[in-house]
Amino acid sequence: MLLSAADGTALAVAAWSPASNIRARVWSFEPDAVIDPAFFAARVHAALRARERMLDAQHTGCRLVHGESDGLPGFVADRYGEVAVAQFLSAGAEAWRGALADALRDAGCSVIYERSDADVRALEGLDARTGPILGTPPGALGFVEGGLSYRVDVAHGQKTGFFLDQRDNRARVRSLAGDRDVLDCFCYTGGFTVAALAGGARSVIAIDSSGDALALARTNVADNGLHGARAEWRDADVFAELRGLRDARAGFDLIVLDPPKLAPTAHHAPKAARAYKDINLLALKLLRPGGLLATFSCSGGVSADLFQKIVAGAALDARADAAIVGRLGASADHPVGLNFPEGEYLKGLLVRKNA
Ligand code: SAH
Repeated sequence: MLLSAADGTALAVAAWSPASNIRARVWSFEPDAVIDPAFFAARVHAALRARERMLDAQHTGCRLVHGESDGLPGFVADRYGEVAVAQFLSAGAEAWRGALADALRDAGCSVIYERSDADVRALEGLDARTGPILGTPPGALGFVEGGLSYRVDVAHGQKTGFFLDQRDNRARVRSLAGDRDVLDCFCYTGGFTVAALAGGARSVIAIDSSGDALALARTNVADNGLHGARAEWRDADVFAELRGLRDARAGFDLIVLDPPKLAPTAHHAPKAARAYKDINLLALKLLRPGGLLATFSCSGGVSADLFQKIVAGAALDARADAAIVGRLGASADHPVGLNFPEGEYLKGLLVRKNA
């Protein structure tokens, strides 16, 4: 549909989403743009071309298409080796599903698997849909990140199977982990744990409440020939486990806090802020002097500003003298369109505890 200003000036061509609070998602700000399969092929090709330098022998996975910021609202595609995993998350992307899948195929993706089962589908009035679109993914699918291999369960894993957005931050943790006692909270399939062990961590305690994720995490450690005895896995609630560690007077040199999305929208921010403060306060208490905290929020409803205030409040209450020594965000395959600042969902702080 054509979007027009009150005076009738044509503004943009958009997809109409009758069931959603976001009624229109812009395909093009050129009002006379033709929206057809060739349009989607061009956008998909541009997105893949922009990632060419991010893929090599040491990195065989990345996000190929990142929704609005690649000019394709509601369409996400991740690559793990030869397999692309696609998500059609808006009514517009759903309507052009065939053209988008064809564009991926024509750009060289020989296996495409669909994971259109994110919660946002319901807000668009769409049912969940998962399954193969083209070919069949291998049973034990893996890919390489920073020379480390990770297995991915694209059919049952969270999101498309792996949190590719943390690529740079896993590399950062790897570079900081040497000879440190590490605590990896919300470890999922062991992304940060594998990176920390590869970086020479003395020990890692990794916590997650998903047994399936932990099983894959163990496999990932073994597959990389890392010494499994340095890792301890805890199938537990992080909020409770952090209290247990505090009561046991445990101490760590490097802590990763990468919780799930606690505030999907700004409406959820106050409750989420309390949860973020809780875990950051406990983590700062568990850090030894000179220790580092890599703390993240992937909540769209919590701004970078608010997140920093929450962590500052946590440090105050933990009586920790601490400073920000790095700002962390999503890797370059998750761009933020300048016309779409809402796309900046992942923010992180690297905090050093002085005393
Ligand atoms: N750091 C991971 C991604 C974390 S995703 C990586 O780099 O791959 C968030 C994880 O938190 C999920 O694995 C989910 O199972 C886990 N989770 C959610 N709530 C939890 C809780 N209360 N306690 C422990 N784990 C939890």
